Amino acid sequence: MKEFLSNLKFAWKFAKGERAKLIKYILCNICMIIISVIVPIISAQIIISLTDSLFQQLLFLAVILCLVEWSRNVFNRLSMYYSQVIYRETFISLQTELGKEIMRLETSVIDKHGSGVFIQRLTNDTSRLASVFNILNQYLSNILTDIGIFVAMFIINFWAFLYMLIVIVILFLLERKRTNLYNESDKKFRKENEKVSSFVGEIIRGIRDIKMLHAEDSFSKELHKQVEELNLERYEMNAVNRRYVFKSAMLRDLFDMGLIFLLVYLILEGGLVAANALVIHNYAVRVPNIVWSVGILLDSIKDFNLSCERVFNIMYGNEYKKERFGFKHLAKVHGDFCFSHVNFHYEESGEVLKDLSFQVHANETVAFVGKSGAGKSTIFSLLCKLYPVDSGVITIDGTDINDLDQESIRGNITVISQNPYIFHVSIKDNLRLMKSDITEKEMIKACKLACIHDFIMELPDGYDTIVGEGGVNLSGGQRQRLAIARAFLQKTEIILFDEATSSLDNETQKEIQKAINNLKKNYTILIIAHRLSTIINSDRILFIESGQVVAEGTHKQLLKNCLGYKELYEAELKDKV
Ligand code: ADP
Repeated sequence: MKEFLSNLKFAWKFAKGERAKLIKYILCNICMIIISVIVPIISAQIIISLTDSLFQQLLFLAVILCLVEWSRNVFNRLSMYYSQVIYRETFISLQTELGKEIMRLETSVIDKHGSGVFIQRLTNDTSRLASVFNILNQYLSNILTDIGIFVAMFIINFWAFLYMLIVIVILFLLERKRTNLYNESDKKFRKENEKVSSFVGEIIRGIRDIKMLHAEDSFSKELHKQVEELNLERYEMNAVNRRYVFKSAMLRDLFDMGLIFLLVYLILEGGLVAANALVIHNYAVRVPNIVWSVGILLDSIKDFNLSCERVFNIMYGNEYKKERFGFKHLAKVHGDFCFSHVNFHYEESGEVLKDLSFQVHANETVAFVGKSGAGKSTIFSLLCKLYPVDSGVITIDGTDINDLDQESIRGNITVISQNPYIFHVSIKDNLRLMKSDITEKEMIKACKLACIHDFIMELPDGYDTIVGEGGVNLSGGQRQRLAIARAFLQKTEIILFDEATSSLDNETQKEIQKAINNLKKNYTILIIAHRLSTIINSDRILFIESGQVVAEGTHKQLLKNCLGYKELYEAELKDKV
């Protein structure tokens, strides 16, 4: 209960904009509770008037009943409105806040847990959390209504009241058993659900590769297996409810028969008049609902606590580490940076970078060459501070990146990845995402420098052409050139360029080369080169082997001094022949 109250306090924080409505919502529900208790009493009075032939009184009571019911409808309508507004506002602020926290997580946390955990918590758990006020209000109102009815029953006849009390205790014990079983299944169900969400996310992201590998069958089989396991859990949860509903319905019918026997006995004994017996029977139909309402309320509280735990874990827990940045802000970055004795390993991997040291000067173009898995991409990730280093220091313009704020690091670096993400909007809007106030002239200039302008002009709608999801109707080379145009617009001092591994035709490669040459001298450029022809003109080439710089120099120097580089170069020449 203590846990529930502190969780409720947390949810209350997010409903702050709508607290006045919450109070009005509660008042509406109190009015509806009072009406629920009054209505059976008026109905009984109508029957008494009928049996006593007091027709004038009967008509008067009928009008009163109608007015009372109308007011119930009005309160009900208001209550629905308030409940929806409160839910909406709480949900929006909660989901936005959690979204922000997820974006602050360390990259290694996302690597480790997969996307499903976060999708589920951001969608389902926040929704459950936001609905707590409505659920509380709804079921507490039901319970209070039933208690009111129960008290009215006590006033009319003690024996009938006692009988119903015993019925409630029996049904309550049954319900407790159900809630415990249900909650066990619910926990397992949510875990399975996260697994399936992660897997579906991966299928969608990797759909192109799955198709190309013709692996649809094995993915379908795995999906089938996971969905089957998930639905087994769902089936278990439903089975628990099914069994309970059956047992309790059978018992309720039996108890109803018992009540009729008791009421007839009381009438025959002269302890009860027929009209009151009718009121008691009307009440009795409702009273066992109290058990159901209490059950659902307890379920909902447990459900709410579980959702809170899952959301809190991300927001405040130690398991989900947040990125940390310093406070120093660099208004203008020149583009010098340095790795000094950097060691790094990924979670669950051996050491990837070992005592790595190198320096890059502003406006220099430096290429990283080495076998796949040598640690080249890792260097880029560390420079953007996607992962914290194990030891050693990385500096930008002489300042340790651990002391810099987020803007000074990521706001000054543009990454052009192997397969840049192009959004499903027009080319113009793709470029505008980088700079909302971009002029037509700037856009064309950037595209010309990126050697993509001519291609765009050949498209049916030019710059207004919509490119497919993920830019699928652009080739790899075109995507990279569009990303280079974005980099021109971003005007960051440092550009990290991960050359596409897939072989590009000579023409495209030349265009990309031209685009990179246009960037040179005005930017600090780091290139991960998969084809040495791209980087022959770099100012410097660093040859990376097992996370260390084993040689550095110009192309010519490395050909002479570095056997590994020479072998790579010769292998590439052979491939071309
Ligand atoms: P390169 O870019 O030179 O091909 P990477 O920097 O991508 O090499 O990878 C270096 C090593 O780190 C590889 O052994 C790779 O398997 C491992 N690695 C890369 N990314 C991750 C990750 N997110 N989690 C665990 N290991 C990783």
